[in-house]
Amino acid sequence: MFSKILIANRGEIACRVIKTARRLGIKTVAVYSDADSGARHVAMADEAVHIGPPAARESYLLGDRIIEAARRTGAQAIHPGYGFLSENAGFAEACGAAGVVFIGPPPAAIRAMGSKSEAKKIMEKAEVPLVPGYHGDDQSPDLLAKEADRIGFPVLIKASAGGGGKGMRVVESAAKFADALAGAKREAKAAFADDHVLVEKYLTRPRHIEIQVFADAASCLYLFERDCSIQRRHQKVIEEAPAPGMDPARRQAMGEAAVAAAKAIGYRGAGTVEFIADQDGTFFFMEMNTRLQVEHPVTEAITGQDLVEWQFVVAAGGRMPLAQDQLRIDGHAVEVRLYAEDPARNFLPSTGTLVHLKLPEDGPHVRVDTGVRQGDTVTPYYDPMIAKVIVHDRDRASALRRMAVLMGETEVVGVTTNAGLLKALCGHPAFVGGEIDTGFIERHRTTLFAAVAPADDLAFAIATLARVVEWREAGRDAARASDDPWSPWNEQSSFRLLDEGHDEVRWKDGERDVAVVIRRLRGDGLRLELPGGAQDAAVRRADDGRLAMRLGDETFAATVVRRVAGDGGIDYTLFADGRSRRLRLVEPLDVTQYEATASDETAVRAPLPGKIIDLKVKAGDTVTKGQPLLVLEAMKMEHTLAAPFDATIKSVRYAVGEQVSEGAELVEFEAGG
Ligand code: ADP
Ligand code: ADP
Ligand code: MG
Repeated sequence: MFSKILIANRGEIACRVIKTARRLGIKTVAVYSDADSGARHVAMADEAVHIGPPAARESYLLGDRIIEAARRTGAQAIHPGYGFLSENAGFAEACGAAGVVFIGPPPAAIRAMGSKSEAKKIMEKAEVPLVPGYHGDDQSPDLLAKEADRIGFPVLIKASAGGGGKGMRVVESAAKFADALAGAKREAKAAFADDHVLVEKYLTRPRHIEIQVFADAASCLYLFERDCSIQRRHQKVIEEAPAPGMDPARRQAMGEAAVAAAKAIGYRGAGTVEFIADQDGTFFFMEMNTRLQVEHPVTEAITGQDLVEWQFVVAAGGRMPLAQDQLRIDGHAVEVRLYAEDPARNFLPSTGTLVHLKLPEDGPHVRVDTGVRQGDTVTPYYDPMIAKVIVHDRDRASALRRMAVLMGETEVVGVTTNAGLLKALCGHPAFVGGEIDTGFIERHRTTLFAAVAPADDLAFAIATLARVVEWREAGRDAARASDDPWSPWNEQSSFRLLDEGHDEVRWKDGERDVAVVIRRLRGDGLRLELPGGAQDAAVRRADDGRLAMRLGDETFAATVVRRVAGDGGIDYTLFADGRSRRLRLVEPLDVTQYEATASDETAVRAPLPGKIIDLKVKAGDTVTKGQPLLVLEAMKMEHTLAAPFDATIKSVRYAVGEQVSEGAELVEFEAGG
C-alpha cells in the first residue's frame, strides 16, 4: 500500500479522498490554486503545494506541474478525483512515465471511452444494448439528417467528446434538424475543440440508471445500480440506490452488461456505466465514465464499502476485498447535491461568501461531503457545489422523509441555493410515490417552486419581528453603555414611552415595496399590520440564538441573518419551517435605494463573471419582456439573459467573445422603456 498520495483536485472530492487516506494511515498532499489557498481541502491535507492562478487551465489542469509536485513531496500515487484530469488519458500516461501511480484505469481504457461515438462502437461489439442511433465517422449534414429520419423524431444530437450536457440538442422534427446540428457542432467545437457528433433516438420520460463497476487484475464485478433521473439541464441533482422498482433479474442483466463493457476495454479500478432506460424497463448503453463518480456515496451506503479504499488497494496492485456473491444491498440511500445556484433563474450559478452556513451533521443515517466552511467563498472558477448530503435508511420512504427534514434545516446565506427545491423534491408526493424520470423537475416546476418560499405575510412578519429584536438588543446595549442604564431614553424607535407606540418597517421584495406597521400592545404583545391583514405577534431570542416567534395562534422558530450586500443594501435572509426567503430593508433615510432601483431599470448587468457567446439584439432594436438578449457563458454553463420589460435598446456594450466581470452593464435601454 502507498504511504503518501497526492490529490489532484479540490473541493468536496479532495476532502473525501483525504478522509479515507487518513483512516488508512496514508499521508496526503493537496494541491491548490490562488483562489483556494485557504480552502478546506488544503487545511485537511498533511501537506499542500501551490500550483498556480485560479483558472483551472492554469492550475488544476496542469498535469506536468501536478506530477512535479508529487515527485517533490515523495507521493507515490495521484488520485485525480472527478472532473479536471480524471479522464485525461495523456495525464494518466504521464504519471506512469514519471513513475507515479495514477489511481484510475489504464490510459487505453480512458481513451476507449473518451469519445461517446467510439465507446458505442466498442459496446456494439461487446453486444451491450445501444440506444438506436448513428455514431459513424461520416459527418456530412445530409447524411446525419437522413440518419435522423431513419431513427425517427424526436432525436438527440450529442457531441462525441461531450460532457456536462454541452453540445446536446433535442430535435423535434426534420425541419429543425439543420439548425440544431449547426448549433450543437458550434457548441462542441467551442467546448471540446472537436465538433464530431452522434445522433440517437430521444427517449421521452426516460430514467438514468447507472451501474458501478470495479475491476482488479483478476476480475471485474458490479456494485449494483444508482438511479440518477432527477436532473436539471441534463445534469444530476438527486441520486439514489437501489433504483426504485428494479427487479433482481433486470439488476443482474444490467450488471452483467456493465461488466461486459468494462471487460471489453481491459478496465481496472472504479468506473460507471451509464444506461438510459425506458419506462417499460428496456435499457440502453449511454456512456462510461472512467473514474469515481460524484454520486458514489449512495453505493457505499447500501453496500457498506469504501470505494476510495478499494481504489487504493487496486491501484497498489492488490485484489478487491469482496467477490460478486459477497455483495449485498442494505436499505436505501439518497444523495442530494446542494448547489450555489438559483432554480428560479434557470439554475444560474450563484457566487459569493458563505457568511452563514448550517449544513446537516454527520450521524448514523447522515453523511455530509463538503469542501467548504462558513466564511469560505464560492468563486466563479469552479463547480458551484456546496455539499452532498447522503441519507441511508431502511427504505426509500424513510430516507426521503429524513432528507426533506435535513434540507429544511439547511441554512445558507451569501449565495442562493437549491436547498428549498431539494426539500420540495424529497417531499413531493409524485416523486415519493415512484414517478421518476429525467423530465420530473420541468414537469412539476410550478408545484416544486411554489413550495420553496414562505408566503408573503409570514415572510414580512418574520423579517419585521427580527427588526424588533434588533431594536430591543440595540437599546439594551446602549443602556449598558450609558451612565443611567435604566433611562427610558435609551429605548429605541417607538419602543419609547408610549404604551400605544407604533413604528413602520419597509421591505423591498423584488419590485415590490411593502410597509409593515408595528403597534405595541400591553406586555410584550405586538400587532403587525401586514399586506394581508393585521395579526397579533410576539418575539424573543431563544437560548440557541434563533428567534422564537408567535404569529396569530402559530408559534415557530426562525433564523434571520442580516447582511450588507455587495451594493451596500441590507438584506435579511429568513429561514423558517424549511423555507427561505430574502427581503431587503428599505431604510427610511436612505434615498439612494430608490435611485438605485430606478437606474437599475436602464440596463441588464452580468449576474456573474463570464464570456459573451451570443448576442441576439443590437442598438435600436425594440424588445418585449422576456425576450432573449444575449447568452453568457459562466461556470461551464450557458445562461440566456432576457429583457426585464418592454424596451428599446440604446446600446450593446460588448461583442461576442468578450469576457465581462460581474455587474458589468451589458445592454442599455432607452430611458422611459
Ligand atoms: P457525474 O455523472 O458524476 O455527475 P459529470 O460528468 O457531470 O459526472 O461531472 C462530474 C463532476 O466533474 C462535475 O460535477 C464537476 O464538478 C466536475 N467537472 C466536470 N467537468 C469539469 C471541468 N471541465 N473542469 C472541472 N471540473 C469538471
Ligand atoms: P454527459 O456526458 O453530459 O453526462 P450523457 O450522454 O451521459 O452526457 O447524457 C446526459 C443526460 O442526458 C442523461 O442523464 C439523460 O438525462 C439525457 N439523455 C442522454 N441521452 C438521452 C436520450 N437518448 N434520450 C433522452 N435523454 C437522454
Ligand atoms: Mg453522463
